[in-house]
Amino acid sequence: MNRDSNKDHKHRHETYAAKSDSRGKPMKRSKERLIVVSNRLPYVFARTPEGGWKTEGGSGGLVSALVPVLRDRGGTWLGWTGSSGDGTGLDQAMAQASEQLGFNLRGVQLDAADVDNFYHGFSNEVIWPLFHDLPSLCVFDPKYWHSYKEVNRRFAEALVEECGKADFVWVHDYHLMNVAAEARSLGCKVRMGFFLHIPFPPPDIFFKLPWRSSLLHALLRFDLIGFQTVRDRRNFIQCLRLSEGQVTVQGKGNVVTVTAGAYTTRVGNFPISIDYGNFARQAASAEVAARADELHRLLPNRKLVLGIDRLDYTKGIPHRLRAFRDALDRYPELRERLSLIQVVVPSRVDIPEYHSLKIEIEQLVGEINGKYMRPGGWVPVWYVYSSLSRSDLLAYYRAAHIALVTPLKDGMNLVAKEYCACSIEEECVLILSEFAGAAAQLQRGALLVNPHDMEGVADAIYRAYTMSDDERRNRMRRLRRGVRECDIFWWVDTYLQAAIERDLSDYPQPQNYVPEPTPDYVPI
Ligand code: UDP
Repeated sequence: MNRDSNKDHKHRHETYAAKSDSRGKPMKRSKERLIVVSNRLPYVFARTPEGGWKTEGGSGGLVSALVPVLRDRGGTWLGWTGSSGDGTGLDQAMAQASEQLGFNLRGVQLDAADVDNFYHGFSNEVIWPLFHDLPSLCVFDPKYWHSYKEVNRRFAEALVEECGKADFVWVHDYHLMNVAAEARSLGCKVRMGFFLHIPFPPPDIFFKLPWRSSLLHALLRFDLIGFQTVRDRRNFIQCLRLSEGQVTVQGKGNVVTVTAGAYTTRVGNFPISIDYGNFARQAASAEVAARADELHRLLPNRKLVLGIDRLDYTKGIPHRLRAFRDALDRYPELRERLSLIQVVVPSRVDIPEYHSLKIEIEQLVGEINGKYMRPGGWVPVWYVYSSLSRSDLLAYYRAAHIALVTPLKDGMNLVAKEYCACSIEEECVLILSEFAGAAAQLQRGALLVNPHDMEGVADAIYRAYTMSDDERRNRMRRLRRGVRECDIFWWVDTYLQAAIERDLSDYPQPQNYVPEPTPDYVPI
């Protein structure tokens, strides 16, 4: 492996991310522009009380990695504005934001019925649970599917108006799997890539979808389909094999060429990541150090275990709380020596399953604290139901001795990678679900657990608590090196290299990159 590979991909990113002109407008270039398509724009436009528009957002890793590329190549980010009401004046607000950003923003308007049927319905009550292996939570309502097709069609129409022949289109995530098929039916021939941020399920789960063939055929209309892990890529190809019969797979490495019936496309695995440098730098700041110290002062003489999740049934929060209770039951020496800080970020609360999940979590927290808490003394579970400011998030990461990242299934799980980046003292332990996409890369440094195995997770908590300083350091160093080498910029570069330049054969892989998943999974 090439020792300088990390430098190489940084350099490559800089070549994508050359300067825009002094007014922030994209310079005219001969290379193809990039058109990014995602359900939401990187900026949310919200009405002010005076009837104008204010712009918010734009801070996530994906946004910070794609913005310089869009500025350099020129291009457009196309997505839903986030509003479903009266859009008067919105065009002007978007034009102003585009001017500041140095590339175009183009909005797709959704009305209230679209938000119900396409977004809450098909995307979040069909695809989300199905692709996370929870078919019993799916609501296979045909009107959701019709709305999904119709909204994807609208995205495709906007795309066709927006893009030129030489452009490259990069569509993101499960809301927009039909966009290439719809665009092709409108005569669009540009190269289009897709990246699925969530897992792709195995055939016995995927085949429950009444519209499975349409969806597979729609995906095949992309020129490159990116998945997070080999597991997801393998599941997709197995679904194709069972659905289409004759399927050939050529090539090896992280991108292969797949032919199914009349369609040939390329399929790869590209594990998404974080802006490691930014997290590590901010975690080392005096402000974050002071907040982390304050947490230690408030919760003295114990180790802190951290869970941070959106409120979602895929995150396994009740399973984790039961495992923590089991650890306290079976290892009495942990009592008064360990506290779990469980942060739950509100999400999709208007869906009934999410509401009952919140109640279940709060009951479990109450039971554990009721059993073990002594008045004026140690509290086993500190429960926070709120979204965090950036500095609070970093302070929790930095203060925690152990992170419990135990989703039942997750496309990647960025919290695991962010925790490693922020563990600047390199003394912390990551306990990670083997069903998180991140396990494929982080398996050698983390303690891998099956989140359904309550006693196994409890034993891992005990092992993390009692782990020697040397082992903790060795493991965390390895984890941090891996996340640093394969950061979000590496991810963008690797995908675009595969999509645009089409030849990854001599593309240097950072030393710690582990393309194969955990040994339990059989690669294709
Ligand atoms: N996060 C956030 N606000 C919070 C707590 C966390 O925006 O109050 C971020 C966190 O930094 C991470 C993301 O939410 O980048 C969660 O990503 P992950 O892949 O772990 O799970 P997802 O919620 O996307 O399923």
